[in-house]
Amino acid sequence: MNTVMTSQEAVAEAQRCLHCQHPSCVLGCPINNDIPGFVAALGQGNFGVAFDTLTKNSSLPAICGRLCAHEKQCEPKCQLANTGEPLNISALETFTANFAYTHNLTAPCDSSGTKGRVAIIGSGPTGLTVAGQLAKNGFDVTVFEGQKEPGGVLLYGIPEFRLDKDIVHREINNLLNYGVNFVTNALIGKEKTLDDLFTEGFQAIFVGTGSALPKTLDIPGKDLPGILAATYFLRMVILSDSGKLDKSEAVLSSDDEVVIIGAGNVAIDAARTAARRGAKLVTVIYHKGPGEMTCHSDEYTAALKEGVQFKFLKQPTAYLSRKQMYTLGALRKGQCGGSDMHKLAGVMLQNVEKSSQGEFQEVNGQEVIPCSCVVLAIGQRPAAQIFTTTKGIDITPQGFVKINTTPYGMTTRPGVFSGGDVVNGPSTVVLAIEDSLKVAQGIAEYIADH
Ligand SMILES: Cc1cc2nc3c(=O)[nH]c(=O)nc-3n(C[C@H](O)[C@H](O)[C@H](O)COP(=O)(O)OP(=O)(O)OC[C@H]3O[C@@H](n4cnc5c(N)ncnc54)[C@H](O)[C@@H]3O)c2cc1C
Repeated sequence: MNTVMTSQEAVAEAQRCLHCQHPSCVLGCPINNDIPGFVAALGQGNFGVAFDTLTKNSSLPAICGRLCAHEKQCEPKCQLANTGEPLNISALETFTANFAYTHNLTAPCDSSGTKGRVAIIGSGPTGLTVAGQLAKNGFDVTVFEGQKEPGGVLLYGIPEFRLDKDIVHREINNLLNYGVNFVTNALIGKEKTLDDLFTEGFQAIFVGTGSALPKTLDIPGKDLPGILAATYFLRMVILSDSGKLDKSEAVLSSDDEVVIIGAGNVAIDAARTAARRGAKLVTVIYHKGPGEMTCHSDEYTAALKEGVQFKFLKQPTAYLSRKQMYTLGALRKGQCGGSDMHKLAGVMLQNVEKSSQGEFQEVNGQEVIPCSCVVLAIGQRPAAQIFTTTKGIDITPQGFVKINTTPYGMTTRPGVFSGGDVVNGPSTVVLAIEDSLKVAQGIAEYIADH
């Protein structure tokens, strides 16, 4: 859980740093942030220097401070963890980004735009990072975003209670200060192709379009009304809460018994959102054990506190209608009738066990649980608009873009680069940033050579 620190608290916390000769916290950070450097500056009260140090590798420190799994990455590697509490790096990062915002600080930047023209498709963390890195280093950068506003999953996926949307707007404002241009409502592949962008004079194009198409479970009953994708559910709630969608279109009512399938960050966000919207019962179903969940551990704790229930080692094998639930004796006669008989009313779950080889496999034993809504959070894959309208970009059979390592991030089409979830599959913000930093370097090398 992210702590908000005062200046005094941040300085005192930073002064706990042991200034290790061989700091291992950095090894835990996927983007090699100079953690000892920014913490030392904070400890001396040099907040501006701390911000400059932090933004060398990250154009989105306010987001990383809040969304990175610090408890799994840098913090357990802190030497203080051996004897007590590790340094609260998450809160120090958030403090530094907040301080920079309050005092209008911007990272050191060459905003000449003279080194080359680059188009970025998509404005999630990947697109924003590539845009920020290139713009800071003298490139003329334009971001094309299919939605009304830039931000990707940060704006339309992660719930407000976890990431204040003002923080996203702030980070985007920083990029505007570096000279990045944004063109919104521009769905590339449909209205404009990558070839059109090359014709317009862009020397390189970066595709950071994420993986928005939800995966589904191919089990009996999959077409029953009431089965939603988590990304759709979260988006509808964000739009409805921000007044951009009529409240009557909100997707849950207080009578709903909701089953969430999956146990990553997306699943837990959906579960907590359903609980906060007053659903009668929210149950997360996961086919592995608690130790295998990919969500942040503090998100799991928060979900438990908010009344979300968890069923581990259960695999959904069928969605059941009211009629089927009635036949199975799981609904009484008075509880159903008429057209309701073909509505979703339950899920059949098969028991799963972990074998001695560590594999999860179905074993004897089933249970039926009632529900009026299923929210699926079992992964996503990329949409194909760009790859069907541009020749020469190889993708995997699952639809992910193939990239080269020299120059890093270039696809099989010269001058077209890619990174983030559209290459690696659904991942994390910090890994998207890690990838993007390398791709930005690859794009700079490519333009310098052509
Ligand atoms: C609900 C949820 C919770 C999450 N929680 C966390 C978390 O706590 N911590 C964490 O580290 N990670 C979390 N993640 C994962 C993280 O958000 C993603 O890994 C990250 O957003 C991927 O970034 P991206 O830029 O590759 O893709 P996205 O963020 O998906 O951005 C892609 C952008 O491209 C745009 N686009 C797509 N196609 C086109 C087109 N043809 N033309 C123009 N624009 C296009 C989309 O509109 C979108 O804005 C979460 C993800 C979700 C969905």
